[in-house]
Amino acid sequence: MPNIDGAVVAEKDADERGGRTARILAIANQKGGVGKTTTAINLGTALAAAGKQVLIIDLDPQGNASTGLGIPRANRGKGSYQLIHGEATVQDVTLPSTVPGLWLTPSAVDLSGAEVELVTAPRREYYLRSAIRKAPPDVDYVLIDCPPALGLLTLNALVAADAVLVPLQCEFYALEGLSHLMRTIDRVKKAYNPSLEMQGMVLTMFDRRNNLSDLVAQDVREHFGARVFTTVIPRNVRVSEAPSHGKPVLLYDVNCAGSKAYIHLAGELLKRDSRVPA
Ligand code: ADP
Ligand code: MG
Repeated sequence: MPNIDGAVVAEKDADERGGRTARILAIANQKGGVGKTTTAINLGTALAAAGKQVLIIDLDPQGNASTGLGIPRANRGKGSYQLIHGEATVQDVTLPSTVPGLWLTPSAVDLSGAEVELVTAPRREYYLRSAIRKAPPDVDYVLIDCPPALGLLTLNALVAADAVLVPLQCEFYALEGLSHLMRTIDRVKKAYNPSLEMQGMVLTMFDRRNNLSDLVAQDVREHFGARVFTTVIPRNVRVSEAPSHGKPVLLYDVNCAGSKAYIHLAGELLKRDSRVPA
């Protein structure tokens, strides 16, 4: 995404900006450690490898997506906090990653304050949506990496998004809390964003040596049917090692099972996405 002045971008129509209208996906689940950030980074990388322009917005104050993409804290002066507050456009707070076609709006420390500050703000659910609409990023996909809570940051992501992608860890408690998430999504649809779609659920950290993984996967498929992606992300040590090298697993070890699964997931998403011919 060229770093054009936001105001100029806002005035141009989609055709002039290369004809791209970004599809915005919120990667959400209020549970921590289910694979949201890993999916944002690696699905983003796989989509970029498939020739798409992709922007990841790190909306988690912990900044794991920023760290996992090797963006040093010193370079995160401005980020999603300034974006939400309307102090900067997406273009102002977007950095290139080491992956061609993959861009990042980092999360800076300030973001932890945003949740509290938004509480008393008028139309507090719409801040991210307004910021993105004011100067839309010239990309094919925006992936919003949500924090592990159903607070105002996640609500802002759901209101800004076209669809929600829910990673589910293949463990005993996978379905616990899911009804709360589904109710929240319904509430957002009714009150703020009627066109919000369910992009689907992705089973993560599947361990084929563990019968429980299989049972959980079956259970989730029984409950949610076609909404569950066919691709299952295996538990793979290379996936968990990659962030400490500041790299997506696709750059760290393209041949490992985790990389292959994320490439497969990107293919499935592109096929499912009706707006992108397979
Ligand atoms: P969340 O963003 O939902 O909190 P993360 O993506 O940070 O979850 O994942 C939690 C932890 O599990 C991280 O340490 C990550 O490296 C690890 N992890 C995620 N997916 C896999 C996987 N497929 N195989 C092995 N480890 C994984
Ligand atoms: Mg995370």
